Amino acid sequence: MSIPIIVGNWKMHKTIAEAVAFVKALEQRLIPEDRACLAVPFTALRACATHALRSRIGAQNMSDAAQGPFTGEISAPMLLEAGAQFVLLGHSERRHLFAEDEGLIRRKLERAIHQGIQPILCVGELLEQRRAGQTEAVVVRQLESALGELTDPGSLMIAYEPVWAIGTGETASCAQAVEMHQLIRRYLSRWNRPVPILYGGSVRPDNAAALLNESEVNGLLVGGASLELDSFLSIVEQGRRG
Ligand code: PEP
Repeated sequence: MSIPIIVGNWKMHKTIAEAVAFVKALEQRLIPEDRACLAVPFTALRACATHALRSRIGAQNMSDAAQGPFTGEISAPMLLEAGAQFVLLGHSERRHLFAEDEGLIRRKLERAIHQGIQPILCVGELLEQRRAGQTEAVVVRQLESALGELTDPGSLMIAYEPVWAIGTGETASCAQAVEMHQLIRRYLSRWNRPVPILYGGSVRPDNAAALLNESEVNGLLVGGASLELDSFLSIVEQGRRG
């Protein structure tokens, strides 16, 4: 079984100094097989990328435009120049707190692929949508609107993140995660190319092993538990047992 991809999402946490101290300490404890990635704040990209040898550094968002009069936005070429290798797109906090709609997420995804930065597209349903039996329809709609016209997925990754599990302490059961990963994999089979599917939503050291044990789960997207070195490393280490 291949080593799972463990992506930390720091959100709006860590100064440059804090971020660099974390990456330096992380690097000392990674082994060559590990596939640890960190989505860091824009300000820390360059410094983290400079110290990252075995880990990969990426961003949490980017503009759909290459350049232009868009105050406060960051473009893909800027991220690449700063050392980002990947970018999270469509994270539920972007969709729900910053009102990013499906058209914008599609344009960002196309831009990322065009500019050569690896996109990690996040999809997932709200609690009320799950309760209403709409989970599959919501996730397929998110996939279709972002990927429907894509002819080549390139290095695309998908993160299935049920919104009700993000930052709440409530994790999807392994069965729920597997069911959704299978659905997503069926959708992705149109390309006949492997696209890794990560699970995200309150992953912690004490529930990571069970999720990683599922062959449908190719990796994890970890928010809160990626902020402390020991808990992030513990999750990375549990991936080695696969
Ligand atoms: C996330 O931010 O993508 C996430 C899954 O957060 P948490 O692990 O804190 O639920």
